Amino acid sequence: MLTGEEQLLYKMKKIKNYINGKLTPPYNNSYIKNYEPRSGKIYSLIPDSNTKDVNMAVKAAKTAFKTWSKTSKEFRSDLLIAIANEIEKNKIKFIKAESRDNGKPEWLTKKVDIPRSATNLKFFASAILHYDSKSHEMNESVINYTLKQPIGVAGCISPWNLPLYLFTWKIAPALAAGNTVVAKPSELTPMTAYMFSKLCIKVGLPKGVLNIIHGYGNIVGEEITKHPDIQVVSFTGGTETGKKIAKNTSQSFKKTSLELGGKNPNIIFEDADLKLALNYTIKASFLNQGQICLCGSRIFLQQKIYTKFKNLFLKKTAELKVGDPQKKENFLGAVISKSHMNKIITNINTAKKEGGKILLGGTKKILKGKLKEGYYVNPTIIENLDYNSSINQEEIFGPVVTLIPFKTEKEVIKYANSTKYGLSASIFTQDIDKAHRVARNIDSGIVWINSWMIRDLRIPFGGMKQSGLGREGGFKSLDFFTETKNVCVKLNERL
Ligand code: NAD
Repeated sequence: MLTGEEQLLYKMKKIKNYINGKLTPPYNNSYIKNYEPRSGKIYSLIPDSNTKDVNMAVKAAKTAFKTWSKTSKEFRSDLLIAIANEIEKNKIKFIKAESRDNGKPEWLTKKVDIPRSATNLKFFASAILHYDSKSHEMNESVINYTLKQPIGVAGCISPWNLPLYLFTWKIAPALAAGNTVVAKPSELTPMTAYMFSKLCIKVGLPKGVLNIIHGYGNIVGEEITKHPDIQVVSFTGGTETGKKIAKNTSQSFKKTSLELGGKNPNIIFEDADLKLALNYTIKASFLNQGQICLCGSRIFLQQKIYTKFKNLFLKKTAELKVGDPQKKENFLGAVISKSHMNKIITNINTAKKEGGKILLGGTKKILKGKLKEGYYVNPTIIENLDYNSSINQEEIFGPVVTLIPFKTEKEVIKYANSTKYGLSASIFTQDIDKAHRVARNIDSGIVWINSWMIRDLRIPFGGMKQSGLGREGGFKSLDFFTETKNVCVKLNERL
């Protein structure tokens, strides 16, 4: 006899893997519950895939590589554009699905996640047509030229915070460059990758070129990073996971790109345009419930403007609404999971123990009715913590920021560089010399001056220190997904 819950689960929508061109149930027929963060209710089931599923996917990708790697750039480019066009045609479904799976507001998936996913595909569909290589002439009789060849089967592992956005950011350059792919979306946000696999079938992507395996990171993800027939791995996720992946991929010297966590400084000098700084700081602190690797969670304020900015920031943050992600007026929706919500609250409690003063928020938000079990956290502002307190050193990945005063440029550079991370930074000042000086001295892969999260897809993207290894973006992504081979030609000198 099935219990009530079992009967309910039995009827629920089951997501499938995408292997060798077909939607396929997991080999062991086992599933993971997929929760809707908005309501805290289970709403679909995710394949709990294992080694067998990964092996089937790798086998299909290996076979497909023989022909896909020989196709023309134009052919691959056209297919990527066809998928992008299908995303755009079905954008309403994707916008709703991404918000439901992740808990982020629909207005955000409409503005950022879904358009950017289509743009990623179009961008790399175009980039591959413009990708060239160098030649080096030594003298009249010797010339070197460089080939940029596809590598083989690529493993692409992506996180939950920007699900389809980061999934496409990896698979698009891998496929454009002529590799085949075994991809693993996060087990917390599998839905849009599943919908994506249906679009691949619709546009006629050859079988085995892209395979999508759903399941847990420590099973499916680990298997991908260890598999002997996967030659290249691109990962975006947490720093601790990155360490495990680096350990696994190093055993067989797989080419590895790691885009990891951050604890980014947002530095506001006394000569900044405070209105501009305030607008960007609100977004850098609380967009996507503070669950963006680039969020500026440490706000450094020069002493003279500390109180003025603090009051402006408190007032504007207090006006932000938290609630149902389907309602336009809510700036913040739900965070990803119950355990993540509890982790955020634990961090806030640690901040209190360390002497932090909670100026705003600091609590879960309980909604009414059907959404009362949803995962909501009020935007939280904390002050009175030393720059090297644990809260100012570790990534929280939620709507929690700290305010830290500073006196001099030298002091703030020391504070900003004090963490193990080095992903991004924002600097607000109207002194152009100071802006460039500070930018040069900050340990981070990306620096914004008088702005935040303006993204040009051509730029090198990635972190220093424990925020990552390597750079993605533009031709850097194509460099990563290709093997560089030099061919040296000695010409006959006789006329
Ligand atoms: P995570 O590391 O827990 O998971 C990321 C992916 O890795 C998931 O698909 C997961 O299933 C998989 N995974 C987990 N354990 C694995 C293992 N042992 N081997 C292989 N794969 C494994 O990260 P998350 O919680 O999904 O995402 C949040 C983190 O991602 C934050 O730290 C954030 O800063 C970071 N992030 C970084 C960037 C960037 O570009 N630098 C962008 C977005 C998110």
